[in-house]
Amino acid sequence: MSNPCVRCGQQRIDGKTWKGKVGASPVTYTMTVCPDKACQKVVDQGIADRKAKNASILKAKEEAKIAREKLAASA
Ligand SMILES: [Zn+2]
Repeated sequence: MSNPCVRCGQQRIDGKTWKGKVGASPVTYTMTVCPDKACQKVVDQGIADRKAKNASILKAKEEAKIAREKLAASA
C-alpha cells in the first residue's frame, strides 16, 4: 500500500500507534509519519495551522450567528 508523504513524496513509515474502540470492537490506530523528521515537522505544523484556521472560521461563524440572533431578538 502506497502512502507517500504529502510534502516530499517519500513512503511514509509507521509512527505512533494507539488503541481505541469503534463501538464495542477494539481497533489499533497507526499514525504514519514521514521518515524525514524535519519534513514531518513541517507537515505537522501545516496540519496544526489548518486546524487552528478551521477552528477560528468556525468560531467566527458561530459568533456571526449569535450576533444575528441577538439582532433578530432585539428587532
Ligand atoms: Zn516528507
